[in-house]
Amino acid sequence: MSRRSTRVLALANQKGGVGKTTTAINLGTALAAVGERVLIIDLDPQGNASTGLGIEHRERSTFDVLAGQASIAEARVATHVPRLSIVPATIDLMSFEREAASANGRHYRLRDCLAELIAAESRDDATTYILIDCPPSLNLLTINALAAADAVLVPLQCEFFALEGLAQLLSTVEEIRVRLNPKLQIHGVVLTMYDQRTSLSDQVVEDVRAVLGDKVYTTVIPRNVRVAESPSHGKPVLLYDYKCTGSQAYIQLASEVIERERRIRAA
Ligand code: ADP
Ligand code: MG
Repeated sequence: MSRRSTRVLALANQKGGVGKTTTAINLGTALAAVGERVLIIDLDPQGNASTGLGIEHRERSTFDVLAGQASIAEARVATHVPRLSIVPATIDLMSFEREAASANGRHYRLRDCLAELIAAESRDDATTYILIDCPPSLNLLTINALAAADAVLVPLQCEFFALEGLAQLLSTVEEIRVRLNPKLQIHGVVLTMYDQRTSLSDQVVEDVRAVLGDKVYTTVIPRNVRVAESPSHGKPVLLYDYKCTGSQAYIQLASEVIERERRIRAA
């Protein structure tokens, strides 16, 4: 067996409503279901990943972690899903940008906190995947995520303007790679909210694959009402309705992510 190592994936796209949070919750759940130890960092002041996982009471939050007032180990809370925990966000996180504005090392706050966690864990109980749910903006929070990540996973909604904004995201990733984090890679692009009833969705899938090639995961997440309903029950869709098409797609995405990880490690 190769040594277990922790992989940090940032779910980023400056567009809102494309499926970042849904993917963080459900990819995280599917990875935990096959035995990975997963930690979600909720880096969006809206706290949708936290609410969607049924976390109501937030004693310590991502803001406290970034502000140096709590460690990740202190702030992380368990969820209903075995092996899946989260550092929840509160609206305080909005003030991070202002609070850290000109502070030294402000881009590396999250990276340093994650490094502390990873160093303190023993090999047997090590977190194997850390998924960072980014806010819908290329702000200091997202820069912290990209500076801390091994790779970026980009959810892209199957809609007419899917590719709009992607160039800006990719150039930001490139800039972070050059300036802050030379190891940063693009893990993959996942197409979300695919609607099989419209030819538009097929056209978008085709166009995105033509532009991005094998960076696009084979798995496409369908638009599925169970996926949309599950957060209001505080559950990942995999706990809410295991058999629905959305759950099955996230299980398939998790196996693709693991397979890509294997290839990256073997390289
Ligand atoms: P983001 O985090 O990028 O802003 P979300 O994950 O919050 O996007 O998704 C935006 C909205 O779309 C949410 O209401 C979510 O429940 C819904 N949604 C996401 N993925 C799907 C899907 N596959 N099928 C149906 N609704 C979805
Ligand atoms: Mg979100």
